[in-house]
Amino acid sequence: MTKIIVANWKMNGSGPFIIEFFKNFSPNSQNRIIFCPPSLYLKDVFFHAPMIGGQDCSPYSSGAYTGDTSAVMVKDAGCQYVIIGHSERRQYHKETSETVRQKAEQALKVGLTPLICIGESKEIRDSGKAIEFVLEQLSQSLPAGTDKTYYIAYEPVWAIGTGLTATEHDIVQMHQAIRQALPTQGTPILYGGSVNKDNAHAILSLPNVDGVLVGGASLKYEDFNHIVAFSEQAMI
Ligand code: PEP
Repeated sequence: MTKIIVANWKMNGSGPFIIEFFKNFSPNSQNRIIFCPPSLYLKDVFFHAPMIGGQDCSPYSSGAYTGDTSAVMVKDAGCQYVIIGHSERRQYHKETSETVRQKAEQALKVGLTPLICIGESKEIRDSGKAIEFVLEQLSQSLPAGTDKTYYIAYEPVWAIGTGLTATEHDIVQMHQAIRQALPTQGTPILYGGSVNKDNAHAILSLPNVDGVLVGGASLKYEDFNHIVAFSEQAMI
């Protein structure tokens, strides 16, 4: 099955960085490689890569929301995808699951595929209630009654940008629980949290892991080249 590899550049990159990166990285792959640069660079990256995604969109379609970007604007920039509810948005911008759901619905309305992020904090993991928490967050974040496609990214908050990754056992257990809770069979479930060139192959080979969401390692073309190569070996 095709694997989905998403590069989340967060608030990193520049014009010269993009030129250098794509001099050394070819997005041709049998898998789905999706670049999510900062919104002001979407068109620059689209010049080099066929599949791009926004990092966020507004829960509203238009209006007096200074600084925000609507789903239709993300689409107009060439995107097919948009990340919604990343833990950095939930944490620093106080986004609730209700807002995440509204954003996902806006994305679907304009024909974007939302990549909805969910994941537990360290305290919740340590309390033994991670699965319960994540399934509750999932049910509150999902767009209401739709047969349109969306992706889910399970990203334990404590594993993002920390160099820590969930154990293979914990990833398998959580992805299986998410799979069983999803209303539609075949919804892709990605793992995110310090995926790198050393662990990508093992993670991509786990059951119910349809792809990975990569932050830090997607900014280094050598590392990202390795991750994409491993994704091809992990195709089943
Ligand atoms: C992310 O940006 O969603 C992420 C998982 O980051 P990192 O790979 O750096 O942990």
